[in-house]
Amino acid sequence: MMRGMPTATARPARDAADEAWRLAPWAFASRRPLSRAELLGAPIRWPRPSELERELSVPGVKAAEALRTLGLETVGDLFEHLPRDHREARTVATLCPGEQATVAVEVRRIASRAVRRRGMRPMVEAVVFDLTGSTRATFFNQPWLLERYPPGTQLLLHGKVSTAGRFNVVHHAIGKGLGDEKGVGGAGGLGDDEDAEAERGRTVAHYPASEGLTSTQILTLVQESRGALADVPEPLGGALRAAEGLPDRASALAALHFPTVPGDHEAGRRRLAFEELLLGQLLFLRRRARRGRERRASALDEPPSLSARWLEHGLPFTLTGEQSAAIETIRRDLESTRPMQRLLMGEVGSGKTVVALYAMLRAVEHGRQAVLMAPTETLAEQHFATLQRLLGAETVPCALLMGSTPSRRRREILGKIESGELSLVVGTHALIEPTVSFRSLALAVVDEQHRFGVCQRAALEGDGSTHVLHMTATPIPRTLALSRYGDLDVTALRELPRGRRPISTRIVAGEQARAEAYAQVRAQLEEGRQAYVVCPLVDLGEVEPGPGGAEKEMAADRPGGVGAPGGAVDAGELRAATEELRRLSEGELAGRRLALLHGQMRAREKQEAMAAFASGDIDVLVATTVIEVGVDVANASVMLVENAERFGISQLHQLRGRVGRGEHPSLCLLVGPPDSPRLRALAEHSDGFRLAEIDLRLRREGELVGTRQSGLGQFRIASLPQDAELLQRARARARAILREDPELCAPEHALLAEAFERAFGEEALEPIPA
Ligand code: ADP
Ligand code: MG
Repeated sequence: MMRGMPTATARPARDAADEAWRLAPWAFASRRPLSRAELLGAPIRWPRPSELERELSVPGVKAAEALRTLGLETVGDLFEHLPRDHREARTVATLCPGEQATVAVEVRRIASRAVRRRGMRPMVEAVVFDLTGSTRATFFNQPWLLERYPPGTQLLLHGKVSTAGRFNVVHHAIGKGLGDEKGVGGAGGLGDDEDAEAERGRTVAHYPASEGLTSTQILTLVQESRGALADVPEPLGGALRAAEGLPDRASALAALHFPTVPGDHEAGRRRLAFEELLLGQLLFLRRRARRGRERRASALDEPPSLSARWLEHGLPFTLTGEQSAAIETIRRDLESTRPMQRLLMGEVGSGKTVVALYAMLRAVEHGRQAVLMAPTETLAEQHFATLQRLLGAETVPCALLMGSTPSRRRREILGKIESGELSLVVGTHALIEPTVSFRSLALAVVDEQHRFGVCQRAALEGDGSTHVLHMTATPIPRTLALSRYGDLDVTALRELPRGRRPISTRIVAGEQARAEAYAQVRAQLEEGRQAYVVCPLVDLGEVEPGPGGAEKEMAADRPGGVGAPGGAVDAGELRAATEELRRLSEGELAGRRLALLHGQMRAREKQEAMAAFASGDIDVLVATTVIEVGVDVANASVMLVENAERFGISQLHQLRGRVGRGEHPSLCLLVGPPDSPRLRALAEHSDGFRLAEIDLRLRREGELVGTRQSGLGQFRIASLPQDAELLQRARARARAILREDPELCAPEHALLAEAFERAFGEEALEPIPA
């Protein structure tokens, strides 16, 4: 087809353009229909860097400094400095004395007035109005505004209404052209139309600001550079945008910076979010493809001997169907020279370890080595114990290497790792120190993999020729898994091994219920069981769990870490482990043996407390969320969680997994508001995947837990789980693009490739060998 022939292309292009208009109400923001070139998917505009790369300048040293602090050097940077949120500008008629507000107004009169105080410059006073009325605005100490804001100027003013009804201006910006083209007072000036839109006031972008540069000043700068929006490069081709119903990049930016109709900025945000997600998925998919082609692992493909024998005779239980299926999948993965990168997702107690051990034994029976890395010493120790128990009669040379391993022992272990004498090594970060050198590592298992950084995981993978099994006890719905694990194969263990006793979960609200709850705890202790009491804080008087320590990392990593109440109303006073231990040992649990466990304790103290609890020397462990992962005491049958509303669903579910690990029926008591949807979900459901889906739905419905805390907040613009649907579309689109053009070298993908490279560096674009 010859694109240049007008008769051949004009019609379909127009149809497509009509279609795009229908799909894309945002197009009104720019009032620019898609050009034919765009619709055909050809790159339309190459950036003219001159405008976007023009350096920003502001009057004043402080403001210039602030620009640098915010990382804003060029006009292009400025456009990417997106508003934090959008606020409704108020109308003059609704202003009340004493309040702070932003108004969009027009200047009617302006004059300068002397100020009595010495050293003060004259004050500028203006009569300003909008459709609803007028007011007096006062500008202090800026006499030049008299010239800058003549009558007729449209202004955006932020300030405080004095008791006398004056508007004392704190920040101000020229409002003309911000958003509505009709301007502040309507095209014909005051009162000649009753535009409901204008009545409602305008939506004003609010920016992350810094000392020396206010949000309004930033808005002024963006406004002054508005013309350069035309130079913004468009990585998404017109055909793609039409199909996805997304505005072009420039319109999206305009909608975010200068929204005109309500919802405008959201459409703009979604456009940029889609682009961000698309680039991410392109990266994941290319990474997968590259791994399949470039890296070679050893195929562990001889007929199984040791592992088969072990599965047949060594196991103390029968595998669940899902465990068998996971083992089969892994067997197939390992038989290939394509390095395995599989994520085994299954909540606490779902029996991941036995699957991991199978994979490790596959390496061992090929005369190779396998390693299991856990994020904490407690977990590593437990894995080590579990592996030995699971191995039963099989003798496999096995060792535990951690930071606290004494140096004599460490040297010995390092020697045996290097000689290959050790087949299985369990440990912590100590395993990836440079002094550790494996003779022939074939497989690495990374437990609670999200707790390790990318580099740490990469260190285990070495040159990429190691098979890797990642494990996580945090189930996330499939949709979201793409955002984090888009380059991994995912296997889920949903069912819990048979014979597990269900945990009955109750919400405890009010003093009466609390008293009953303690009675239940005491009843369990009478029976010889043990209990956990979990508090959100270590000490009263601190806001967050202590500095350093695993606990802090943990809190940062998951929803509803302390201080993130997840939108729930604060129901009770905050409880802290230290105080609670004292209170309980003198009160409700007097006469019992209580111990403390929290992240600020020394490693030794923690181990001692854990050991005492495990051996039954302690009845009640009063703890923070350090017990969330890895504590395994089958005799513990009851858990009471204080301020439960302060934790996220998944975190509570993890915590709850500490009980119900033995043959006894177990109980989880959540102290919190009875109407909390999250607590109710926990009371009703025990399946972690089901809970994850509910969590997703609740968050969509607005009970929002900061995504930064949930560990899903890896994006600048997109926000999960709210953008889950967008993420799926981006994934599908990325697949389609790479199917046609795996190297992104087609002309219509030139700008996309450029954006991709800008986002992830040159290596990301390096050709993948066929
Ligand atoms: P997680 O997924 O939390 O790592 P584990 O692998 O530690 O779970 O398993 C939890 C407990 O369940 C362990 O004591 C383990 O021996 C036991 N277990 C695992 N699989 C089964 C099974 N199929 N039947 C019975 N018990 C099992
Ligand atoms: Mg485990």
